[in-house]
Amino acid sequence: MPLSLAEIRETHPALYKAFSSIADGQRHLDHLFEIDRYWEVLKGPLPEVILPASALPSDATVSGEYDLVYAGGTLSLLHAGVMAGTYRRNVLVVDRREPAKSTRDWNISRKELDNLMLTGLFTGSEIDSTIVRRYKAGWVEFYKPDGSQKRLVMENVLDCAVDADRLLGIAKEKVLASPGSAVIAGMSFICCYRFPDHIVVKTADREGKPFYYRTRVLVDVMGVLSPIAMQLNKGMPQTHVCPTVGTIASGFENADYDHGEILVSTGPADMSSRKGRQLIWEGFPGSGSQYITYLFFYDEVDSPNDKSLLALFETYFRILGEYKKPGRDFTVHRPVFGIIPAYFHDGFNRTREIADDRIILFGDAASLGSPLTFCGFGSMVRNLPRLTADLDRALGENDLSKEKLEKISAYEHNVASMANLMKYMCFNSATDEPNFVNDLMNEVMIVLDDLPPRYRQSMFRDEMKFDELIAVMIRVAWRYPRVLRATFEKLGIPGSLGFLKNLAGWAFSPSR
Ligand SMILES: Cc1cc2nc3c(=O)[nH]c(=O)nc-3n(C[C@H](O)[C@H](O)[C@H](O)COP(=O)(O)OP(=O)(O)OC[C@H]3O[C@@H](n4cnc5c(N)ncnc54)[C@H](O)[C@@H]3O)c2cc1C
Repeated sequence: MPLSLAEIRETHPALYKAFSSIADGQRHLDHLFEIDRYWEVLKGPLPEVILPASALPSDATVSGEYDLVYAGGTLSLLHAGVMAGTYRRNVLVVDRREPAKSTRDWNISRKELDNLMLTGLFTGSEIDSTIVRRYKAGWVEFYKPDGSQKRLVMENVLDCAVDADRLLGIAKEKVLASPGSAVIAGMSFICCYRFPDHIVVKTADREGKPFYYRTRVLVDVMGVLSPIAMQLNKGMPQTHVCPTVGTIASGFENADYDHGEILVSTGPADMSSRKGRQLIWEGFPGSGSQYITYLFFYDEVDSPNDKSLLALFETYFRILGEYKKPGRDFTVHRPVFGIIPAYFHDGFNRTREIADDRIILFGDAASLGSPLTFCGFGSMVRNLPRLTADLDRALGENDLSKEKLEKISAYEHNVASMANLMKYMCFNSATDEPNFVNDLMNEVMIVLDDLPPRYRQSMFRDEMKFDELIAVMIRVAWRYPRVLRATFEKLGIPGSLGFLKNLAGWAFSPSR
C-alpha cells in the first residue's frame, strides 16, 4: 500500500523534507512506490498474462486494429516512431501513466545519437535540440583511503546530457502524425489472448474499464515490472539489479559544469545493510544551472540487502553533502529514479527469453543492456536501426513466430561479457575487505590509463572488442592477483564457467 509523504516523515526524514519541497512531491513518491513494487512482485505468484484464444471473454469487443501494439510508453516511442514514420506501420502505444514522461535523464555521446537520424526518426537539428549540455570530458575515480586513487579521464564518452522527455516527446509527435497510429495515456496492459494469426491485447483505463485491441505483434516495453517478462522467464526476469536514485537540482557549491563524473566513489562499502553495498555516485551538468547527481549500487537480485528505492533515496539525501555540497540556494527540481536491470546469460549466446509467438520484448523488459556504463537507452539507440528494419521485414514476411522474433534482439556478445564485470562490484561483507570494490576498480583505471584512449572509450561506450577486454583482464590480474580469488568467491564455479562461455560465444561471433 503506497504511503503518503506525511506517513514517511518519521521513518525517512531526509526524503520527506526534500520531496515536500518539490511541486508534485506526492506524485513522485507514488511513482517510486510503484517501481518498488518490483520486490514484492518477484516474491509473488507467477503472472499469467499470455492466455490462449479460448480464454477471450465472449463479450469482448475490439476497439481498434494495429500492426503493432506497444505496452509501455518510454523507450517504445523511439521504436514506434520509426515503425510508424519510416515503415508506415500503424501502431498503438499505451502507457499506464503519461507516455513520453520518464523518471530518468540520459547521457550519451553525440555520434551515437546519429542512429536516430539513420532510421529516419529525427533530423539532425531535432537531435541537437534535445541535448541540454555538452561537456569537455568525463572521468571515473574510485576511493582510496590514502588519496592515491587514479582519475581516469576520457573524451567523447557520455558527454551529452539529453532531455529525455523532450526526446521522447518529439518521437511521440511523430507517432501521432502518422495516419492510423495512436498513443493513449492512463491505459494499462492487463493480459493478451493469442490466436494463430493475431493477438488481442486487453487493457484497462484509469477507472478499470477494459478495452481490447487486435494486433499482429504485441511489443512489451513495460520495463522491469513487465509481467510478460516475468512469465516468460519463470519469475526470474533479472539476475542482478542496480537501484538508482538522484535529482536534477541546482545550487551546489562544488559542481563542475565542464566535466561529467561518470563513476565516483567517496568511501569504502557501506555496511549498514545486511550484505553490504558499495555506493557509487554519478554527476553530470544539466541545462543552465542544473546539475544531475545519482547514487546507486550493484547487487544480486536475491541478496538480503534492502534494495528499495525508498531506502536508497533516504541515504542519498542524508549523504549527498559527502559528494556535492548543497549551498544556500540548493533546490531540487525533479527526482530521478529506477531499477536498472541486468541478466547473466549462462551460455554461449543469449539465454534470457525475449520473445514468444507474436510477442517481442524491448528495452528494460528485455534486459539486454549492461548496467555498468550505458544501460537501456544506449542499447536501444545503438540497436534501433536493426530492431526496426528486422521487425518490419518479419511483418512483411508474416513470420512472427518466437524463433523469428527472438532473433530481433539487442543482445550483443560484448555487452553480455562486460556485464559479468558488475558481479565484481556487488560487495559481499562475508568475503570482501571494505575497500575491495574500490581497490579493484582503481587497478582497472590504472590499466586503462596505461593503454591507448580507445580502450577506455570502447569500454565506457559498450563497444569493446574481444582482444581489448582480454588485454585489460590480463593486465588487471597481473597487477592485482587478488582478483583471481575474487572470481572464485563472487562468480563461483557456475558463474566462472558462464563467464567463459560468454567469452567463447563472443570469440566465435562475427562481432568479435
Ligand atoms: C536515474 C537513471 C538514469 C539513467 N541514465 C541512463 C543513461 O544515461 N543512459 C542509458 O543508456 N540508460 C540510462 N538509464 C537506464 C534507462 O533509463 C532505461 O534503460 C530506460 O528507461 C528503459 O526504458 P523502458 O521503456 O524499457 O522502461 P521504463 O523506462 O521503465 O518504461 C516502462 C514504461 O512502461 C509503463 N508501464 C509499466 N507497466 C505497464 C502496464 N502494465 N501497462 C502499460 N504501461 C506500463 C511505465 O509507466 C513506463 O512508462 C538510467 C536509468 C535511471 C534509473
